[in-house]
Amino acid sequence: STLLMVLFVLDGLKPIIGKRKPWPNILPQELLSLDIATRILVDSESAAAASLDFGRLSHVSPAAVFRPSSDHDVAALLGFAYESPQPFTVAPRGQGHSVRGQASAPKGIVVDMRSLSRETMVEEPRIRVTEDPVGDGGAGAGGTAYVDAGGEQLWVDVLHETLKYGLAPTSWTDYLHLTVGGTLSNAGISGQAFRYGPQISNVYELDVVTGKGEMVTCSRDVNPDLFYAVLGGLGQFGIIVRARIKLLPAPQRARWLRLIYTDFATFTKDQEYLISLDGEGHRVPGKNKSASKKGFDYVEGSVLLDGIPVTSWRSSFYSVADAERMSSLASRHGAVYSLEGVMYYDHASAHTVDQAVEQLLEDLSYVPGFVFTNDVSYVKFLDRVHEGELKLRSQGLWDVPHPWLNAFIPKSQILDFDAGVFRGILRNNHSAGPILVYPMNKDKWDERMSAVIPDEDVFYTVGLLWSATKDDWGHWDDQNEEVLRYCDQAGIGIKQYLPHHKSRSEWIKHFGPKWDVFLERKKKYDPKRILSPGQGIFTSSI
Ligand code: FAD
Repeated sequence: STLLMVLFVLDGLKPIIGKRKPWPNILPQELLSLDIATRILVDSESAAAASLDFGRLSHVSPAAVFRPSSDHDVAALLGFAYESPQPFTVAPRGQGHSVRGQASAPKGIVVDMRSLSRETMVEEPRIRVTEDPVGDGGAGAGGTAYVDAGGEQLWVDVLHETLKYGLAPTSWTDYLHLTVGGTLSNAGISGQAFRYGPQISNVYELDVVTGKGEMVTCSRDVNPDLFYAVLGGLGQFGIIVRARIKLLPAPQRARWLRLIYTDFATFTKDQEYLISLDGEGHRVPGKNKSASKKGFDYVEGSVLLDGIPVTSWRSSFYSVADAERMSSLASRHGAVYSLEGVMYYDHASAHTVDQAVEQLLEDLSYVPGFVFTNDVSYVKFLDRVHEGELKLRSQGLWDVPHPWLNAFIPKSQILDFDAGVFRGILRNNHSAGPILVYPMNKDKWDERMSAVIPDEDVFYTVGLLWSATKDDWGHWDDQNEEVLRYCDQAGIGIKQYLPHHKSRSEWIKHFGPKWDVFLERKKKYDPKRILSPGQGIFTSSI
């Protein structure tokens, strides 16, 4: 009768499974007998959609795409994969906004995490705010409010939900249409990281489904090893299905400034001064002795090379006349640097923001007359890149190849990097694409987490965010290689962010002293090397 039952189930599944394609040999037939079988799609459209990511540089087909409707579905799939004598790889895919196939599963199963938000919202909200956690013993929340968000949730949705309570997370990425699980697997950085640390520093607790199919709750106090492994863990140890994220009262407005520099050393000196200030006008102990001013709440910066249009996709900040003034400054100097700072404020404190900004500007050495100011709502500021996205989409310029290189550079070598890269390798560059450069404080990162940063108190993030075409992306890719080679030869202690390495030895070098722990954790939480194979770290046995 069991056999009859199986045949009956298989027959019932026929219309769904293998509608266009037979069940792939590469996947065990036994998968078909699980409750989740109807959620495993093997049709070519589903596979095609999961084969490409934002980078459009690689095309990696999975055998199937899984659309879970609950965390238990995710656990069921991983539990099966772990027990199966014929294991297959599994990659959670959030928004697929990686650029090097990191969320791909060659011949395995891609988990379309977003289906969790599409299918489970009604019964059980996947974003829940707790305003007053005092007394609930809430996993190290220490009395601050928090939000529990599904790993598949977009940060923009987390923002809108928390704002209903006048609260918001403190640390962001520049672009909010990324998933919580996707950014926490890397670090999640933006101009707030100097003060609050990356997003991974603002997590209280996680629910993770490990590579053994076990659902584990972890925090700094409970299963801390898994907690630290997963944060910045490149999807190698488990699938994040819930993250508890710290919330603070949300500001209402953003006074948003861009200051232009022609000298890189002056630009970075000012950036470093700004990240030594706190948000209240108190001196940060051990940081900057003379600092007693209220600093910016967000500090970033970018390089505008000669020939690159200053009105890039990231925002329309400048008038046409301003853009022309800057272009001519850039052609005179080869490159100009734009320091971006934001001071948050509330309607109630609106009268003090002018003065606070003015006092801060007194300390900064930008080119006189080259200060540009904008004033927008907090939400509009945080969601700024999405506006650029809509613009680019309307021009057909969003779904193009993105040969990006993101990296961290120690503060002591950032001037060498400028000389060799911005004014060297990229000097005659005529591409559209922002180049970001801004510093962060190492003491806001937690050494125990998997994320890798340079070993210096202050380090810079540099992002070469190229948009290319089908025909010329190889050129930008070669140039990225040249940048990495230059750093290697010049002894610049570069660490890639959103890393892409091609061999085990490169990965070992990337992780440095953290490699042994990373490997041990892999053996512990995903011994069959099932998870996120697209990162290319554990391509051979462990
Ligand atoms: P995916 O690309 O789908 O996945 C990334 C990796 O994480 C994969 O290995 C995947 O298997 C794994 N993964 C996905 N979901 C989970 C989960 N729930 N649990 C465990 N592992 C999981 N980053 C910044 O830090 N700051 C920025 O300002 C920033 N801006 C960006 C702007 C744009 C336009 C783009 C395209 C990217 C930007 N990024 C930025 C990079 C981005 O944070 C990462 O690429 C991130 O991984 C994307 O999230 P995703 O949901 O698309 O993840």
